[in-house]
Amino acid sequence: MSEESRLREEIALFAKSLFDRGLTPGSSGNISARMSDGTVLVTPTGSSMGFLDPARISHLSADMVHLGGDLPTKEIPLHSAFYDTRKPTGAVVHLHSTHSVALSMLTDTDPDDVLPPLTPYSIMKLGKVKLLPFFLPGDPAMGDAVRGLAGQRSAVLLANHGPVVAAKDLSAAVFAMEELEETAKLAILTRGLPARGLVQSQIDALVARFDKT
Ligand SMILES: [Zn+2]
Repeated sequence: MSEESRLREEIALFAKSLFDRGLTPGSSGNISARMSDGTVLVTPTGSSMGFLDPARISHLSADMVHLGGDLPTKEIPLHSAFYDTRKPTGAVVHLHSTHSVALSMLTDTDPDDVLPPLTPYSIMKLGKVKLLPFFLPGDPAMGDAVRGLAGQRSAVLLANHGPVVAAKDLSAAVFAMEELEETAKLAILTRGLPARGLVQSQIDALVARFDKT
């Protein structure tokens, strides 16, 4: 199977898995993955992550010009911003996942580091997650906001909208996204309770061991 055929199948499988677990409803959410020739596969506009046809996934040039398949998601500026500013990026996942969106709305969420240090895994897989402001759907300024981070963050949370995660390949991006949503869920579940999170020395040891900041 060619690299392109395999990646088309993988995008559809991961998308369905995320959709089936209720992590992005309706026709929300999108996934992209970059191939070794620099061109990009991305889920089409208006498509549901639960019902993708691998053959209809959009194919874009390295500078995001439509080459084939259905028309791409309107949220393409989010994806291109990560590819352009974080060179190891091989895939980008964006969801409208409930607990992450809830966390983005809470007024005491730290906008520079939205996930409280509850478990090691969000720190290992995501580092600090930045809260970005609210944008109208499809506003290209979303991409400008990601570019403004100059590749320093692998994950952002769009206020009242949802998270975006970049990683070296598709499975790494999906797994990091799942960690983001699970940590947001834990933060909501333990909110107001006397929960014991990680202390600074534990966080420092994780950052030193796993090279995330
Ligand atoms: Zn969205």
